Amino acid sequence: MNFLMKAMRWMSGRYGTDDFSRFLMIAGLAASVLTMVFRIPLLSIMGLFFVTYAVMRGLSRDHSRRLKENQWFQKKKYKVTQTYYRWKNKLQQRKVYRYYKCPSCKQKLRVPKGKKKIKITCPNCSAQFVKQT
Ligand SMILES: [Zn+2]
Repeated sequence: MNFLMKAMRWMSGRYGTDDFSRFLMIAGLAASVLTMVFRIPLLSIMGLFFVTYAVMRGLSRDHSRRLKENQWFQKKKYKVTQTYYRWKNKLQQRKVYRYYKCPSCKQKLRVPKGKKKIKITCPNCSAQFVKQT
């Protein structure tokens, strides 16, 4: 039996890589690179931990647990990317629109800029308030 066959047999039934493992690998490598620049020992330990955890996940045979971890990661990733795109959108539109919060229901409202004083009607609760745009 050659080496490749042995390696394939050894890896069969193991979890392999997923999005969470890739993230851990990249985070671990980034922490290692940052350690070389800033020389913070804690960062080095964190990097080593992330890479070790990613490898251990890949070699694990407990698929259901690894899938749960990956689902948890996907939820967090979704939240972060949604927040990022919301902020990016807001930043791109800041010259054209102005954002206010409704004083009664706290709904976020977007109004066109440069209209001077306008009466804003909340589409959620119909409350009206005057603002300078
Ligand atoms: Zn409202």
